[in-house]
Parts: sequence; C-alpha cells; structure tokens
Amino acid sequence: MRPESGGWAGGILRVDLSGRSSRVSPSEPYVERFVGGLGLAAKIAWDEISPGCSALGAENKLIFAAGPLTGTLAPGSGRLEVVAKSPRTYPQETVTRSGLGGHWGRELKLAGYDALVLEGRAERPVYLLIRRDGVEFHPAEDLWGQDTFATQKLLRRRHGPRSQAVCIGPAGENQVLSATIMSETSFCAGKSGFGAVMGAKKVKAVVVDGSGGSIGVAHPGRLIQLQAHYRELLGVSPMREWTVGYVPPAHHLEFFNNYRSGNASCFGCPLQCMAFVRVPGLEPSQISCVNWFYLNPAHDYYGPGLEADQAFWSANLLSNKLGLDTFELAGVAPWLKDLYQAGLIDEKSAGLPLSRFGSREYISQLIESIAFRRGLGDVLALGAARAAEKLPGAWPIYERYYPAHGQTEHDSVRNFPGIALLWALDSRDPMIDHHAYRHLSVTRLRWPQPHGLTREQAEAAAEKIFGDKTAIDHSTYQAKARAVAYCQNRSCVMNALVLCDLLYPIFISQSRSDRLGDTAAESRLFSAVTGRETTEPELDLIGERIFTLERAIMVREGRTRAEDTLHQGHFQDLAQDSPAARAGGTGYGLAADDSRAVPRADFERAKTEYYNIRGYDPETGVPTRQTLLDLGLEEVAAELWPQGSAGPAAGPAGERGDP
Ligand code: SF4
Repeated sequence: MRPESGGWAGGILRVDLSGRSSRVSPSEPYVERFVGGLGLAAKIAWDEISPGCSALGAENKLIFAAGPLTGTLAPGSGRLEVVAKSPRTYPQETVTRSGLGGHWGRELKLAGYDALVLEGRAERPVYLLIRRDGVEFHPAEDLWGQDTFATQKLLRRRHGPRSQAVCIGPAGENQVLSATIMSETSFCAGKSGFGAVMGAKKVKAVVVDGSGGSIGVAHPGRLIQLQAHYRELLGVSPMREWTVGYVPPAHHLEFFNNYRSGNASCFGCPLQCMAFVRVPGLEPSQISCVNWFYLNPAHDYYGPGLEADQAFWSANLLSNKLGLDTFELAGVAPWLKDLYQAGLIDEKSAGLPLSRFGSREYISQLIESIAFRRGLGDVLALGAARAAEKLPGAWPIYERYYPAHGQTEHDSVRNFPGIALLWALDSRDPMIDHHAYRHLSVTRLRWPQPHGLTREQAEAAAEKIFGDKTAIDHSTYQAKARAVAYCQNRSCVMNALVLCDLLYPIFISQSRSDRLGDTAAESRLFSAVTGRETTEPELDLIGERIFTLERAIMVREGRTRAEDTLHQGHFQDLAQDSPAARAGGTGYGLAADDSRAVPRADFERAKTEYYNIRGYDPETGVPTRQTLLDLGLEEVAAELWPQGSAGPAAGPAGERGDP
C-alpha cells in the first residue's frame, strides 16, 4: 500500500455515510502527477464531483487531504487541505479549498491515510472514530447542538488524550454558509463553508487516533540537516510577532503584553504564529491574525481597558465555539453598522442592538443570530453576498468590504493590482495562499513590513524571483500577470506537499545580509522526505498542473473569462459623500479609505497577458487542449475538448511556459 518512498501513508480512506461502510484505496495512482494535499484532492474532485452537484447534497464529497510532508520534521508541515464543492462561493457554488492546521493531519497519516473522503449523507448525526485498524460509526445525537470546545472535550474523554478531532459547531449543523470545521480551539478550515457541508452530511466530528503509526522518511539525516537550515533561515523572522500582534494599532500589542501566556503552533512549527491568551473572566484560548476582527471596534466603543478586551475576546471565543468564520464576521459586523447608519435596516426588525457597534452585546447577539439562524441572522447565514442581494440598498456598502466571491477584503484590490488579479482569478479569498508575495510588495514598505526590507532589497529579491522588479510595485499592472501565475503555481506546490503559506515560499530571510531567501526549500524538503529527487522547476510544473486542473474544474462548472473579475463597484470611483465611501473597510486593506477605481482597461489587459502566459484561450479563459496535454492532463483535455472539437488557438507562440 505505501508508495516505495517516504512521506506518503499509502491509503485513501473512503467513508460511505449513507451505507455506513468504508474502504481503503491506494494513494499511489495520484502521487506521481498530483503529489498529495490539494493536488490529490483536486484530482478526486475532477473525477468524482459532478459539475451539477449541489454543495449541500449527498452527492458532494468532502475531502481531507494531507501531503507527503504533513507531520514530518519539515518546518510548517502540520497542515492539510480540505476540498469540496463549496456552498459559499459566489455567485455560484464551485469546488474550492481551505487549509487546516493543528495536529489532526499528522494523526490521519499516522493512522495510515493520506486522505479521507466523506461520501453520501448519514441518516442521523454521527461521529467517526478512525484508527489504524478501521473506522467506527458512533451516534452523535448527544453531541449535536454542543459547541466545538465542549464537543472536543467530550470526545477526548471518551477516546483518550491522544485522539485528535475535527468537528463542527451549531453553525455547521444549521448549514450556515460561513460555518467552519474546527480543530482544537482555533485551527479551522474557515473560508469555504465546509462546516455547512459537514453539517449537511450529518457528521458532527471525525476523531483520529494514529497510535502505533509512523511516517516514513527516505533520507532522515538529510531532513534533519535541512530542518536545522530552514529553521535558521526562517527562525528569526519577525512574522511571529507580526502575525499575532497585527500591528498597528498599538493596543494590539498591549493586548498581548497583558494577556499572552505563551505561543502555540501546528505540529512542529518553528514560527508558532498562535498565542495562548488569558483574559480575566473568560476562557483561555489561542489566537492568530484572523481572529482580530473586533478589537478595534471594542476599543472605539469602550475606550482602552478590560471591558473592551473582554468584548473582543468573547467575540473570538464565541465565533470559534459556534463554528463561524471570523473573517466573514470582520466584514459583516461593520457592514451592518453602516447599513443601520444609512437607514437601510433598523434595530427592531433586525433584532440586533445595531446602534451599539463595538459593544459585547452587538457582537454576541450577531454571532448567535447567524449561527442559530434567527431573525436577520437567517439571511446573513447565506453569506454576505447573498444577504446583500436580499436587503434593499445593501449592495454598494457590501462591496466596500467584499472584493469578490462573497469573501471579505484581505487587502485593498483598489490599491494592489497583483492582488486584484489574484482575487479575480480565484474562487475564494486568495490571500491566505499568498502571504509571501503580499509581504514583498514595495507598497508595503510604508506600512509595518514584517521583514523590514529596504526598497533596494525588496527589488533585488523581486528581480531574482520574478525576473522583474516591477512585479512588486503595486502602482501599476505592469509585470503582474507573470508574477501572479508564478505565485499561484507555488501556492499549489505548497498546498500539495502540504506546507504553510506563512513560511513558504521563502522569498526573503532576516538571517542573510542580502535578505534573499531560498525558493528551492520545498523541492529540497520534498526530495529528502520522499526519496523522489525533484528539482524546483519540476515541482513548479506540478504546481502549474494542479492550478490548471483546478481551473478546468471551474470551467466545467461554467467559469469563463467574464467571471474572472471583481464585484463591479470596484471599477468605479467611490463618491465621497456616499455611505459606501464612508464605510471604513475591514482594516485588513492597507488603504481602505482609498476610493479610486480599479482601471478596467489595465486590469483586462493584464488578464489577457495572464491567459497567454498560462496557455489559456484569452477570449474565454479556458485552458487550450494543447496546454492540457503539455501538462499531462489528458483526461481533462478529453473532457473539455472532446474529439472533433477545434478549440481556440493557444496564446502567441513563445509566450507560454513556466513563469
Ligand atoms: S505558521 Fe502558524 S499556521 Fe503556519 S504552520 Fe506555523 S503555527 Fe501553523
């Protein structure tokens, strides 16, 4: 069963929830072309999730896929990818992804599996217990309705402290489209509504105990040397403080100084980007950058002090306990405040204390109303975009917080052409997979830049990585298409191995005088773990294949060039006296007060350049038959371009190739 090298566990566990049965198939047929993680899951999705399937229907498949590096000594490898048809993507449901950190992925591999595929739908609530010797179905009626913290405590008591669980809270049970899949107190697959998919399948939790298992490593000595080398290259990164502190403003750091009792991480991560926090009067828990959504409003409402910190911390705890995506709340909470101030909704009909934005009551009642689908919360449970369609006059203000796909702003697309393209070409918020590119931006030099680069150092790094220093100058669309394609390929590599995006690609390093990192880290670690000697360009080609497979899945679902765009309001200047202009943005955008339009002609020109670089038809955005064949995706070519289909011509000769 185990492929003849290290890394992979060897099996794919398939659980048929409708038939209460399971079977194991080998992962070997997938690994050569798609490696694991996102690649393996995307291939299963291509083969097995039909384009017409409903995300919340029994026919959807929920795939948890670890990679060959998951759970090894490779720094930042305690992660896996979750893939399924998402109910949350907007305007239509599409297959997409979400990363999950913590310790569950490693445990799955120790149990003998590279991936778990949940198929069908249970008749009654269940949880699964996976061990090396098989799968048990347990009734979960007693857990249904419990929050994610209580659920995990109970399961650990039942199945031992060694066991690891992923689970859903009431939001997932109620099929709220922004529901998460949680592990421990703050690791979650958050962005793609997969908690709702798990809830629709009536699976409360999946417990794994991999006792007795091991993860093979082809060259252990080499891996130990590489681990030491990359820990040194990464270890002095200020990203840790930056991530947990998310400065400015200053009260973020004050919060840590007052309440942090230590740092935490996914399995074996030197960065330890999570902080343990104890706020008086409330449960201790972990926090990372995505959890900051309510600290500023609470400080504005209460002023500095314990009351504000408690309001913020209770919001963070409650959203994680009920299993709601905090990034969605980062947009919804201020958006509702703006709708109220614009006279578009009122407290009575909403059933929410809308005049008290920043208070503990405002956020607690909002979170509960969404998770339990009460009052306005029932509309908000559809996700902000679908809710904005239903609330008269709400859309223009909604767009201030949401650039595309119904997902919350994560950097201003009005100010960052490279980021605007990444958003337009993805099916969800892309920024979780592109921190390295985001942080290298020269535009960021005027903001707290996690690596403290000078402009010269940043441009030298860009010249080396992208072949053009303009790639990181976000005042222009010039040189963005090639950089974006490169970054997308690299993110697919990372998500196939699986490694954490906060560490890789290592574009820059604090421990080098020239600040240049090592973009070959992934291939070196992959070779040492698996024993399959693979160069950086070879791995990049696999990344390109995986990206194009994901693109083909979207194309089969109806995606064309026309849908590779942003919400249309972003192509217009904001009238300064409009409620939308007054809306402050989430604070994740660097210049959220900027009101300039995305220049449509430049944006569309860059897209054309991008499709030509990728070998996609620039008219439709569809990968050409030749491109699919060049990437070894024969079965995809056969389906997208059936026999006799002429197909559009590829981009201009010589333009295609590895960026
Ligand atoms: S950087 Fe943070 S999210 Fe990434 S592997 Fe380390 S602890 Fe996990």
